[in-house]
Amino acid sequence: MGDDENRVPGRPGGRARAATGDCDAARALRPETLAAQALGWWEPSTRGLVPAIHPSTTFERAEDGSYPGGRGYTRDENPTYEQAEALLAALEGGEQALLFASGMAAAAAVLDSLDPGAHVVAGSPMYWALRSFLERLAREGRIRLDLVPSGDLGALARTMRRGETRLVWVETPANPTCDVTDLEAAAAIAQSMGAVIAVDSTVATPVHTRPIALGCDLVLHSATKQLNGHSDVLAGALVCARRDELWSRIRRERASRGAVLGPFESWLLLRGMRTLYLRAPAASRGAQRVAEALAAHPAVSQVFYPGLPEHPGHEVAARQMQGGFGCLLSFRVRAGEDAARAVASRTRVIKQATSLGGVESLIEHRASIEGPDSGLPVDLLRVSIGIEAPEDLVADLEQALASGTRSS
Ligand code: PLP
Repeated sequence: MGDDENRVPGRPGGRARAATGDCDAARALRPETLAAQALGWWEPSTRGLVPAIHPSTTFERAEDGSYPGGRGYTRDENPTYEQAEALLAALEGGEQALLFASGMAAAAAVLDSLDPGAHVVAGSPMYWALRSFLERLAREGRIRLDLVPSGDLGALARTMRRGETRLVWVETPANPTCDVTDLEAAAAIAQSMGAVIAVDSTVATPVHTRPIALGCDLVLHSATKQLNGHSDVLAGALVCARRDELWSRIRRERASRGAVLGPFESWLLLRGMRTLYLRAPAASRGAQRVAEALAAHPAVSQVFYPGLPEHPGHEVAARQMQGGFGCLLSFRVRAGEDAARAVASRTRVIKQATSLGGVESLIEHRASIEGPDSGLPVDLLRVSIGIEAPEDLVADLEQALASGTRSS
């Protein structure tokens, strides 16, 4: 019990087994296949092709006190979330994955695993709640924090402190301004100074970017977003390049704080990931169409999308993102804040709500979500593109821009 062996598909100890034989064989398959077949796990007792949910929080011991099922208590390990973890680790090309109760819980586990007072360098803009959390930890003296402009490798290199900087935190494309960081170069800078580099790859997903293959150490996902994809699960995930001391600490943090994902949510997430390789490219295609239409629209002053050639991160994104540039984009409404708010309230197909990565498209006035410390332009709207027909989304935005900017 508690042994990593039990967490690898196809190894004895778990009840479900990978139909693909073992982990190495599974990894030889393309990610689309692994995702579609949920790694090929099956239940030997029923031969059911759909992975089972194991709601049990506890597992029976044998007469000699051992755990024949390989698990003792669900706060430490549970077959259902191990299946979703094994699939995500394979998709990211990582050594192991851990699921958490939310993306924020996953991020907190990384930060809580650092020694007190560790120096952290993070790129900003980044997901605002995470930036606020980092800033609070710094105010409380739990970390020492430097924020550098997202994607600015020169600033990153200048801010690193050899032997002191423990963690570099990068989000690419960054929410909501889609700043792009060259992961290979950032990893080289971090590691040359003895620091770990963690990448929030929520917007890219493993479909478009695999940070571990580019030399990064940890990958974070708000699995609430495109990994699950249906706006019905709150979840987070971490994937490691190797099982080292930091990873053991992260795993211990999750078990101690109980920030695990329940079996039902894990099962929904696993089901969501089975269609990831259809959903993510479709959303990226839609986002590209919408971004191009907005860039040509007279009522729009600026569009933030790495798929546009004029985006400052386009060249790097074209190199490190395969098959699309993600579902997220933002734009500024020329007529100002009131007009922007009016546009967000006048879309009909695109719903006015926060979050991203669902099959349905969403729009929101970002500064009012983030509050007074946001620092974002007040005329900025963030859009998450789903898998609807792009023509319908473009038409919806055009009618909202026409009526929203006329009345203000
Ligand atoms: N990272 C990014 C890029 C996000 O957009 C979010 C949430 O919006 C998070 C992390 C936090 O994830 P969660 O809401 O699942 O805690």
